[in-house]
Amino acid sequence: MTLTGQHFIAGQRNATGASTFTGINPATGEALPTTFHDATSDEINQAVVAAEEAFYQLQQVDPAKLADLLESIADRIEAAGDTLIQRVMAETGLPEARCKGERGRTCNQTRIFASMARDGSWRQPRIDAADPQSKPGKPDVRTMLFGIGPVAVFGASNFPLAIGVVGTDTVCALAAGCPVIVKAHPAHPGTCEILAEIVTEAVAHCGLPAGTFSMLQSNSNESGAEFVRHPGVCAVAFTGSLRGGRALFDIACSRPRPIPFYAEMGSSNPVFLLPGALAQRSTDIAADYIKSVTMGVGQFCTNPAIVLGLESEHLESFVSAAAEGAAGYQPQTMLHPGIYQAFESGRQKIAATSGVSQVAVSQAESSGTANEAVCQIFAADFSVLDATEELEEVFGPTSTIYRCQSKDQLLKFARSLDGHLTATLHGTEEDLTEHADLVNILQHKVGRIVFNGFPTGIEVCHAMHHGGPYPAATHSFFTSIGHQSIYRFVKPVCFQGFPSSALPEALRQ
Ligand code: NAP
Repeated sequence: MTLTGQHFIAGQRNATGASTFTGINPATGEALPTTFHDATSDEINQAVVAAEEAFYQLQQVDPAKLADLLESIADRIEAAGDTLIQRVMAETGLPEARCKGERGRTCNQTRIFASMARDGSWRQPRIDAADPQSKPGKPDVRTMLFGIGPVAVFGASNFPLAIGVVGTDTVCALAAGCPVIVKAHPAHPGTCEILAEIVTEAVAHCGLPAGTFSMLQSNSNESGAEFVRHPGVCAVAFTGSLRGGRALFDIACSRPRPIPFYAEMGSSNPVFLLPGALAQRSTDIAADYIKSVTMGVGQFCTNPAIVLGLESEHLESFVSAAAEGAAGYQPQTMLHPGIYQAFESGRQKIAATSGVSQVAVSQAESSGTANEAVCQIFAADFSVLDATEELEEVFGPTSTIYRCQSKDQLLKFARSLDGHLTATLHGTEEDLTEHADLVNILQHKVGRIVFNGFPTGIEVCHAMHHGGPYPAATHSFFTSIGHQSIYRFVKPVCFQGFPSSALPEALRQ
């Protein structure tokens, strides 16, 4: 397909704004050919008004049609083949295998939500039949879940497919019959355009209202804010930085009619190395640690950025093996020049912190592309961590190992934690028994606790919880990955005293 740089507003390509930007190939640092237009207020308004109209229709269509829509989207993504993959690679610097793997996950989760739309069990019907004999008479009360209304979606730069225009947010909102208005990510605008065309065609193919889906390009914080302010938007899904998420969350809460704003943000994902595990397999854990730190050039919200272990010879052999792994890492291109610059200043800030020393930095030859990140591992005494007021996420392949002198220091650190997406424990079963108090604290600090693994790589399944207390997410109850993510975009409605014939089918006797 030929990119036009335009938005898709309720089935139509359009772009009237004078302000423009281009995609950048991070591997060369050069601008890519197409010019994209920043959305105007009028265009955002058109998209939301069309979504409001579509919402009432979507709430009445046969859910099988929503399932067909999602299946058609997944089929079309696969059919887009290399056109899509090549553009993702050009805009993100991600290698082909990663792009194809992410496409597989994207289509898989889209089909999961298609089957959820079809079976309707997410509606959770609950029926309390009337009891006229009771005193006072107990009324007939029935409740089930409905879509919340138009949803605005902000995808992240690091998952251009799985958390982008057709990411979990979009597909679970559509499964619940909620129209979606996507604010495209300016780091991969061409990828967004290809995906938006796919969804627009699928909407038309399935005979659904055009306002079911819109995608607007924007490289300006102000137009991003306009999506959240628009009175027709009923919920927002955001994946990205704490700074961006918090700014938009504040806007959502300060609207005359506040709306739910579900942000998944950054995290430092502490890893605790317990003594039994270190004694048994310190070098194996170190090898997996470096794999996790460097996976996707460290550009994962689940990157294990902090490691704590009790001082011992085994911890030192872990540090040495981690140093070897980091030194051998071949520098790789980051997603965007801005992300690379933020990584460079972040790791320099860690290096300049008093008491922090470098364990290792990549020595392998550069692959010769631009914006390449090295892997850099640091170490420090627990006292440095203890004196840190706020843990700042450094997005990229870096991590710091803290040497602790006592179990009390592990517990003190755990108690001091803000919300994080994950915490990881490496241990034996005896370690777990010995550190049950640590696990108890972590349960109140993170959304997912990993035992003898690493937090990067998130399974899309029923039991997944990808979220956590603030600032990992703005609402600790909800997940943004897995089947349960649909519950961000629904609301219960209770019917009291209705005749069966007038009730939604799932609530009839
Ligand atoms: P980002 O810079 O926050 O951008 C995300 C989106 O929000 C973009 O569309 C961006 O558009 C917009 N935005 C950012 N600040 C804004 C503001 N103040 N007002 C209005 N719009 C704003 O994040 P990113 O670089 O895409 O992703 C990297 C971050 O995402 C990392 O911190 C990572 O940990 C986090 N992440 C979290 C998860 C998770 O599941 N928790 C998953 C992946 C990534 P503009 O660029 O036009 O401002």
